[in-house]
Amino acid sequence: MQRRDFLAGAGVAAILPMAAAQAADLPTIRWRLASSFPKNLDTIYGAAETLSKRVAALTGGKFQIRVFAGGELVPGLQVLDAVGNGTAECGHSAGYYYVGKNLALAFDTAVPFGLTARQQNAWMYAGGGIEALRTLYAKYNVLQFPGGNTGTQMGGWFRKPIKSLADLRGLKMRIPGIGGQIMAKLGAVPQTLPGGDIYPALERGALDAAEWVGPYDDEKLGFHKIAKHYYYPGWWEGGPQLSFYVNQASWKALPEVFRQAFEVATAEANQLMLAQYDAKNPPALLRLVGQGVELRPYPKDVMLAARRATFELYEEEAKTNPDFAAIYRPWKAFRDTEFQWFKVNEAAYANFNYYVK
Ligand code: CA
Repeated sequence: MQRRDFLAGAGVAAILPMAAAQAADLPTIRWRLASSFPKNLDTIYGAAETLSKRVAALTGGKFQIRVFAGGELVPGLQVLDAVGNGTAECGHSAGYYYVGKNLALAFDTAVPFGLTARQQNAWMYAGGGIEALRTLYAKYNVLQFPGGNTGTQMGGWFRKPIKSLADLRGLKMRIPGIGGQIMAKLGAVPQTLPGGDIYPALERGALDAAEWVGPYDDEKLGFHKIAKHYYYPGWWEGGPQLSFYVNQASWKALPEVFRQAFEVATAEANQLMLAQYDAKNPPALLRLVGQGVELRPYPKDVMLAARRATFELYEEEAKTNPDFAAIYRPWKAFRDTEFQWFKVNEAAYANFNYYVK
């Protein structure tokens, strides 16, 4: 049947009154969403607005979610606590902001030499990832939903080229999280600075290098005006995923129709963010290169040393942190199998089409 015929037929007429009747019977519920992100990170921040708009549309306006940017309701790095204790019913954040609570929360976002965006989705939706993460997040009174992905991030801006591992020694680089811990093992001096503080620190020489996201977001902060060597890949963020959080009690109190609307809207927001990055990064990279930015791959000795240090760190952590071990072991098996499959087919397709003239 043609879609047009279907829409003109009785199917829709039968469905719509039922949805309207359900909406009339449902209560009006207003939630607050605490985002970790500023509005100028429009692709990331926008995922919460996607969720809010779609949930309202799917519930006839009965389920309203008001989005607060980072710092408006609570500071950006306190969203997990705020949702857990009910200050906000829901939030939009990144698990790896909370590795101070538990390093295993990083698997919800990205860990060095981990999954790409597609592989993260495969793990989350079809490989046991959501179940594993929800077991962990339950300790913080939160239910988690995948909430967007940036795709593989870039490896950062350097004032001087990095020719080998030795050039990292003493280098002051803005790189938070586990990536920063690995950089420290390689001799660099990692710093954690919020986005707005990076440019001035680079400008006055307090930083030699800085990573942020990728061409679309980096261009807006202007790093290329000071540090023109743009490295790839961001091996600590192969496919970082953002997450929506919901307070456990708020979720239990939510009518089933609203739960369904919320869940489907998170899946849409998850997909749309990656689509936006994949559409916006390529022209941004072209603009940057047009302004004299020099693209450089990380030297192989840096990549090899970083990978070695990364898996040493995981094995050490797994010995003392049962939450980490419970996620890491099956995650590692999943990752290795994914990599074997992508190496055969996806990589062959990509390598031929991207490189062979
Ligand atoms: Ca980053």
